[in-house]
Amino acid sequence: RHLPYFCRGEVVKGFGRGSSQLGVPTANFSEQVVESFPSDIPTGIYYGWASVGNGDVHKMVLSIGWNPFYKNIKKSVETHIINTFKEDFYGEILSIAIVGYIRSEKNFNSLETLISAIQEDIEEAKRQLDLPEHLKLKDNFFHLPE
Ligand code: ADP
Ligand code: MG
Repeated sequence: RHLPYFCRGEVVKGFGRGSSQLGVPTANFSEQVVESFPSDIPTGIYYGWASVGNGDVHKMVLSIGWNPFYKNIKKSVETHIINTFKEDFYGEILSIAIVGYIRSEKNFNSLETLISAIQEDIEEAKRQLDLPEHLKLKDNFFHLPE
């Protein structure tokens, strides 16, 4: 109902869980950006488009979930961009278009099942975003003013 949803904000430090434990870095938005999200947007895994600063637009998968750091009373919004970057981009402006929903949040029995679910989410995101109706959003939306 809220989709597509556009959002832009600074990339901040999370807990470093993404890269170290899962091999999938997730760029975290600040608390202010997260609080600007519609409060009734369902938690779960989404796909869409993302760009860092004035960089190229890439496919992404996004998690909207409960943030354990705040005893699960605040949400976290984390974007994994499907691209290999040479360097971290903390402090840069991340622009995203959330295009579609993949699945709800789940608990996993093991790290292995979690990691394979994430890999499936990434494959699903790639497939969905190749559809013409989703590709057209890529061109329209991300251009920061010069
Ligand atoms: P944190 O807990 O600080 O978010 P992560 O392990 O999740 O740490 O790593 C996220 C950081 O990795 C991002 O803020 C960004 O600077 C960097 N990064 C590098 N490549 C990517 C990528 N493909 N997608 C998202 N973040 C990336
Ligand atoms: Mg992260």
